[in-house]
Amino acid sequence: MKKILQDLSYEELAALVNACGEKAFRAKQIFEGLMQGKKISELPVSAPLRAKLLDMYEDEPVKIREIFTSQDGTKKFLFELADGNLIEGVLMKYKYGNTQCVSTQVGCRMGCKFCASTLGGRLRDLTAGEILCEILAVNRLEGGTLRERAVTNVVLMGSGEPFDNYENVVKFLRNLTAEGGIHISARNVSLSTCGLVPEMRRFAEEGIPLNLTISLHAITDEQRRRTMPIANKYSIAEILAACSEYFEKTGRRYIFEYSLIEGENADEAHALALCALLKGRPCHVNLIRLNAVKERNLKGTDERTARKFLEILEKNGISATLRRSMGADIGGACGQLRAAYLENGNE
Ligand code: SAH
Repeated sequence: MKKILQDLSYEELAALVNACGEKAFRAKQIFEGLMQGKKISELPVSAPLRAKLLDMYEDEPVKIREIFTSQDGTKKFLFELADGNLIEGVLMKYKYGNTQCVSTQVGCRMGCKFCASTLGGRLRDLTAGEILCEILAVNRLEGGTLRERAVTNVVLMGSGEPFDNYENVVKFLRNLTAEGGIHISARNVSLSTCGLVPEMRRFAEEGIPLNLTISLHAITDEQRRRTMPIANKYSIAEILAACSEYFEKTGRRYIFEYSLIEGENADEAHALALCALLKGRPCHVNLIRLNAVKERNLKGTDERTARKFLEILEKNGISATLRRSMGADIGGACGQLRAAYLENGNE
């Protein structure tokens, strides 16, 4: 595989353009072109420079291969990477803007029992540029520019565990939030982790004030171990300590994802235990009814049970939201589309 030009920061690109014997203003032209989602072959540069770049770098690292549109307006994208691997992303339209959910790895090796991304394990990490290109491609397709972005918010909640691909994800975040590029503020970015404690700690030092989101889904370690193998490695107490550290260092409150699973974690007693666990913490809880995954024997709760759970949290002073399951008709949950696609022999 060739290298990915979109991996480079503006400074790195400027050094490359300089090394090619080109004038400095070319770097800005190339950078802006790339950030608008252009291919190398579409860049306004001289033929010899274009040939040189195409010799070393992928022309279009991330291609949109298919688009599925849900009745609620959510769009799901199947992307193809230069080596033929497939990843997926989702664009959700809200009143305040459009949120894109991106993948950070091809597959995932965390093994959560309710998640389709993990069914075939992790094939490889995405590079910083590949993650960025998911966004650049969708922003362009939706008619966005660098000034008037069609993608205003980003969540790292697609396939993959962001902190299992730490270096590339941090580089991606720096390029995503840099001035002169697509320039999405860290405050409009959420990173979701299953709770890799050492990386959570390390991330608190990076100076990227995004919304740190932790997939909790359980109230005791024993219960968490039933659905999330990572709970064998790190305890909830360690995760909470890392969250406190994150808050102390960044001043940002943190968010817990809690998927409501029938017969597993969604009773009144569980809600009360969750309140006790989180009482007094500067956090928010996102509840979502589990999106049933065909290959997994787990089901989401009904709407009534979910509302009741939310009520208990609110009554006990825990800030919480019950998320709508968006795009359920197009396989909205992580990894569902790719899994279906591979299964149908489309590759
Ligand atoms: N690896 C990261 C981010 C990817 S998953 C993490 O674990 O946080 C994004 C979120 O979707 C996580 O909270 C994950 O637990 C949740 N999720 C996965 N499969 C789901 C499903 N079938 N229904 C509802 N939520 C799901």
